[in-house]
Amino acid sequence: MTQSAPIPHPELEADCTRCFGLCCIALSFARPDGFGHDKPAGLPCHFLAGDYSCSIHPRREDLGYEGCIDFTCLGAGQRASQQFAASKWRGDSAIARQLFARFAQLMKMQEIRRALVEVEEMNVGEEQEAERVMLLEMLAQLADGEGNGWDDVNADDVLANAQTWLRAIIARAKR
Ligand code: SF4
Repeated sequence: MTQSAPIPHPELEADCTRCFGLCCIALSFARPDGFGHDKPAGLPCHFLAGDYSCSIHPRREDLGYEGCIDFTCLGAGQRASQQFAASKWRGDSAIARQLFARFAQLMKMQEIRRALVEVEEMNVGEEQEAERVMLLEMLAQLADGEGNGWDDVNADDVLANAQTWLRAIIARAKR
């Protein structure tokens, strides 16, 4: 698909030039959500070109693909693609499933990183600020590395801890 509004944090920007068009392949979409046709997860959109660009890019709005324009993966796509760049995922459905799973995990990771960045404006206090920075560093190590560290740590545990921390901060702010 493509990047929507620019985000003032480079670590949260999508770079479609370094991605295998993962949002146009791995994700499902449907007409009622702003897409011109229904597509199941795991199959390429029929407008995705061989070089992973969108063959109707300038006409997406006219053709009813506002959902593509609004979507951003926050940089998950290029990270997952680069981690699997050396693999033959197009011809191996098992590797493709691993790639799509990593993409989904990275999308969640990038969303949490964005939420942690946004919390900075809440002035959460010294102790929580130190925790926020530590969580951001842990997520950056996972998301921005080459992927070699993913087997050594449980990325889902890191994500769950960050989500729990965010929920507690938001609940406290509502009191
Ligand atoms: S219409 Fe273009 S941007 Fe949207 S899913 Fe298809 S190839 Fe991707």
